[in-house]
Amino acid sequence: MADTPIMKPWIEGIHAYVPGKSTSADGRKLVKLSANENPLGCSADALAALAVDHTPAAYPDPDAAALRAALGRQHGIDPARIVCGTGSDELLNLAAQGFAGPGDEVLFSRYSFAVYDIAARRCGATPVEAPDADYGTDVDALLAAVTERTRVVFLANPNNPTGTCLPRAEVERLHAGLPGDVLLVVDQAYAEYLEPGEDDGGLDLAAHHANVLVTRTFSKIYGLAGERIGWATGVPGLVDVLNRIRGPFNVTASGQRAALAALADTNFLARSREANREERKRFVHAIEALGNHWLRAVPSKANFVLVLFEGDLQAETALQAIADAGYAVRHLPGQGLPQALRITIGTARQMDDITRVLRTLCGAGA
Ligand code: PMP
Repeated sequence: MADTPIMKPWIEGIHAYVPGKSTSADGRKLVKLSANENPLGCSADALAALAVDHTPAAYPDPDAAALRAALGRQHGIDPARIVCGTGSDELLNLAAQGFAGPGDEVLFSRYSFAVYDIAARRCGATPVEAPDADYGTDVDALLAAVTERTRVVFLANPNNPTGTCLPRAEVERLHAGLPGDVLLVVDQAYAEYLEPGEDDGGLDLAAHHANVLVTRTFSKIYGLAGERIGWATGVPGLVDVLNRIRGPFNVTASGQRAALAALADTNFLARSREANREERKRFVHAIEALGNHWLRAVPSKANFVLVLFEGDLQAETALQAIADAGYAVRHLPGQGLPQALRITIGTARQMDDITRVLRTLCGAGA
């Protein structure tokens, strides 16, 4: 790290976010199952919307009014309670910046989204990790870690990188256990992958409580990660804070158009959810069918599965073998998970290829 003496001291502890790779160690191009992107791409309507009316000399609508109105209609939310961002990453960072600073603590569960640590540190606050419960979020551990300095609690639900999801009653219990002056951010980047009846109630909490923000994204099921569009909702006072500190033109015109078209294409959404459900189920069954105590899949509600390696089979060995077969998956030693690989659910063929590699590694033959 090349530290400069003129930087703020709290920047020192920050390690730059390491994105999912698309090349092997020896520079070969790999199929990317390392960033939880949609293997079906995006809606054809969104693609068409990206191509039309290209006026790069003009600033976009600074308030993303049409997109917020459509989101409001779809979710039954007053658009005044919605703010859009440059991906939900921007909104997570703004939430930390708007509500925490030097001397404050920002709390989240162990093995949760890497941006929370960066978001806390970059505003000078102290990141605090609560212990997990078998790779899932432990509400009691989070509540036990709250101090009078806690200002923001991040909950990824479903969680990245583990795929676990707290049910509604647990999210409500977490909220009920927090002091009213602590902001709960429910990060629902993968919410659209949940089945009907699995809703975690985050949007209802955000509608009715002055200390809850929900963030969502067009990067995952909508397949628009490259366009960088996220949104957040909460009571007007919270949304106003984010509006005051966000970039003035933080969502591009093409991104706003694409997101609008993507929202309307409910068929693409349903197809994506169904394909993910099917392939995730097949992949997890295949791992279980190996009956090998070296491998375990953490139960996932998202578009990826965290596979734990134990005993004689190392995650690095599997990572290399998977790369040799042409695929990039995510190894997260920097997040305390040297023994795991996070594998994005791809197409049937891609998942068959990954399964074949794992089967061979377990000595079960191809
Ligand atoms: N939250 C979670 C839990 C994520 O996994 C991600 C993407 N990796 C994000 C937020 C941010 O996504 P984006 O900025 O593309 O909306």
